[in-house]
Amino acid sequence: MTPKPSQRLSRLPPYVFAELERLQEEYRRLGVDFISLSIGDPDLPPPESLVEDIVKALREPYSHNYSTSEGESYFREAVAQWYKRRYGVDLDPDSEVCVLIGSKEGLANIGRAYLDVGDTALTPNPGYPVYTQGATILSDAQAVEYNLYEDRGFQPSFEDLCAGQRTKLLFLNYPSNPTGAVATERTLGDAVEFARRNNLLLCYDNAYGELVYNAQMCLSPLQFADGRECTVEFNSCSKMFSVTGYRVGFAVGCAEAIGALKKVKSQIDSGVPKFIQKACADALLRYFEGEYASYLERCREVYRRRLEALSVGLGRLGFRVSMPQATFYLWLHVGYDGSQLARKLLEVGVVATPGEAFGSNGKNYVRFAVTQPEHRVAEAVERIATLGLEPEREASKPPPI
Ligand code: PMP
Repeated sequence: MTPKPSQRLSRLPPYVFAELERLQEEYRRLGVDFISLSIGDPDLPPPESLVEDIVKALREPYSHNYSTSEGESYFREAVAQWYKRRYGVDLDPDSEVCVLIGSKEGLANIGRAYLDVGDTALTPNPGYPVYTQGATILSDAQAVEYNLYEDRGFQPSFEDLCAGQRTKLLFLNYPSNPTGAVATERTLGDAVEFARRNNLLLCYDNAYGELVYNAQMCLSPLQFADGRECTVEFNSCSKMFSVTGYRVGFAVGCAEAIGALKKVKSQIDSGVPKFIQKACADALLRYFEGEYASYLERCREVYRRRLEALSVGLGRLGFRVSMPQATFYLWLHVGYDGSQLARKLLEVGVVATPGEAFGSNGKNYVRFAVTQPEHRVAEAVERIATLGLEPEREASKPPPI
């Protein structure tokens, strides 16, 4: 007999995909060819130079031993320079930048750094589950969810939001997974003001900041007056360079929070492999020129075309669809339980994520990730058409902003 896992573990909700995965396996055994529009993992190859630089760096003698968990100085320096060019924000590479083993790791560990039993964190509903589960529940704290509604453009209403005595963190994610919404200037300004007024740390997840279809729209709370004092921003090379498997992200901003995060990390991990940091640092330094600049332009164009094919196709089938402003996700309101639709889609070999995976406000939605070639996305639409669905049109709802 082994001991029972911690109570903490039992507070994690059941895995929402279990039933769907079982069904998928059954269909697979029957020979169904699946088009997976479920996982947010880019199918596009990374920039050629990045791969070459990794191979080169791997042959260097410095590459094989431990890095520091806070990141090599050349990586932190490259991140600081990138923020200066991208957002006009000055960062001290020593005290205001930390490398992450993917931004997910940092988002979870910021909870350990700040939350005690009885503390609370404000988390978006719908939202990326790591804020509530990885950061908050696994730190024995409580998540207080705030609502994001389509008729408000999936922007929070800070007038309706309450921070209690024990509230310490405010998680905010734009461009948003799953909604594809981009933060308005007002949302970011209000978030900074709300965090300052209530002595909160604003944990801003900017993992999709480079996948915005109108580059002008993407801002960072670090650009706002007072933003630097109360914000830690999480960013990542994952979607920037289509290298989710390399596990490279970075946290920047409020020196106190970066220091606390580094302290946690120093007890848990030993950093991102140096050859990956070296090649990614070079990529960040060359980000705005030549191959790198055109690489991201091309990625955005590819995702945009796929999203258009999907939304036009679903629109023709009677769904009320709006194109996302960013990300490679289409967040589709279906007017009834999204897991019912996801189950139905499996019959024709199309895999989508039930919106409930992102919180109760996602119940009547499904999320599609266009991480398959355009012809497969078009084929998915053709297959869905054969189901003869009759989407409920909610005429009474105002159109999304
Ligand atoms: N934030 C959001 C909103 C995400 O969707 C993801 C991953 N899909 C991450 C952070 C984590 O990305 P990574 O750890 O690869 O940087």
